[in-house]
Amino acid sequence: MFKMIVFDMDWTLTLSRGDMQPTMISLFKELLTKYKVWVISWWDFCQFETQILKFIWNNEDLLKNLYICPTCSTKMYIFKDKSWQKLYWIDFTNDEKLHIISVLENAINKLWLKPEKTYWELIEDRWTQISYAAIWQQAPHEVKSIYDPDFKKRLKIRDYIKDDLKWFEVLVAWRSTIDITREWVDKAYWVQKLMDVTWINKNEIIFVWDAVFPWWNDYPPLDKLWITTKKVFELNDTEEFIRELIK
Ligand SMILES: [Mg+2]
Repeated sequence: MFKMIVFDMDWTLTLSRGDMQPTMISLFKELLTKYKVWVISWWDFCQFETQILKFIWNNEDLLKNLYICPTCSTKMYIFKDKSWQKLYWIDFTNDEKLHIISVLENAINKLWLKPEKTYWELIEDRWTQISYAAIWQQAPHEVKSIYDPDFKKRLKIRDYIKDDLKWFEVLVAWRSTIDITREWVDKAYWVQKLMDVTWINKNEIIFVWDAVFPWWNDYPPLDKLWITTKKVFELNDTEEFIRELIK
């Protein structure tokens, strides 16, 4: 009954920042022969290349069914004429970026929430999304996982900045990050876009993910569009689900 399978990337198809593993690669390729597949993540496009695309880059028959949506789906790439091309891309204006960054920096300083040890620059401009990574995106998992396991620090920041950023989406993501996009440019917006592009009906889409909370960047498609979802607890669950789909 489903025609489009939407996957979150980290902890659903791969470990965080990890390569797609051989079993998942072969299942994923087979899935692409039968379904349209959309992969979303808060990472930028280059990270998709590292984790997934390098394993299937040369197969154009498969790639025509794959839609890549980096930075919480504020960008969409499709494979056409032998290369990955941007289908949509909604940049912030310079003024918007400066405003968001100054509001964020102010909140982090005022709330005394700057971690004692950081590894790199905390606020990253991804053109369509500003990402705050409390420690650093590439910091070791063990360090990131103990920074804010109950989300309290980031929800405090979110509460503090929400009035100054009321025309934006402020969403908390895994481990240690906060993502800011335009108010209406969230994953629900892109599911709608995707339906327009592919002519696939809402009831023919299923969203596979590892974690969803009301403040989470994966939540809007569920909240606004009532997309069917499948929760996975580990990569094995995703593999099992793909096996069901392709048999
Ligand atoms: Mg995930």
